[in-house]
Amino acid sequence: MNRQKSVKDYIRTIVDFPHEGILFRDVTTLFADARGFRICVDQLLSPYAGIPIDKVVGLEARGFILGGAVAHQLTTGFVPIRKKGKLPGAVISQAYALEYGEAVMEIHDDAIRAGERVLIVDDLLATGGTASAAIELCRRLGAEVVGAAFVIDLPELGGRRAIEALGVEVHALCEFE
Ligand code: AMP
Repeated sequence: MNRQKSVKDYIRTIVDFPHEGILFRDVTTLFADARGFRICVDQLLSPYAGIPIDKVVGLEARGFILGGAVAHQLTTGFVPIRKKGKLPGAVISQAYALEYGEAVMEIHDDAIRAGERVLIVDDLLATGGTASAAIELCRRLGAEVVGAAFVIDLPELGGRRAIEALGVEVHALCEFE
């Protein structure tokens, strides 16, 4: 029987990238397909219909592509969270643990006003370290985080639990082992 492709069907897996042993879930094949990108963005924002949102916050780098499209569709502003040293204005920074060492994410200190309601968007939820740092940055600016939306969840890595422990609901379109 013929069935329409789901979001997951458009995602390509690259073995051993960027390191041996990693299965890289490549969303560029999803973004490159007109129908794939359309259903992906529609499904990402569907739980938030009718919920007031002031800003969509996208995480570097694939969260920019998704977040821009979601913000346009919701008619909200878009705010980038970037790796250390990339944003030109005054920033606040948040460090978080990686498998080896740590990383730092930054947001412009005037990008969100206290009391604004924000939705965080990224392509993939693994350990949840990146999204947790983003939630912390938004909250330090006084934002209310209304949700965190991802195309992919890797449930074995526990990211959903980490984000929900911060009191933020997770929305993911598909899972990979
Ligand atoms: P984490 O902070 O552990 O939740 O990792 C999430 C971030 O790392 C996201 O920005 C993803 O784009 C990227 N990432 C982690 N693991 C993968 C993977 N297997 N395939 C593609 N991207 C990944």
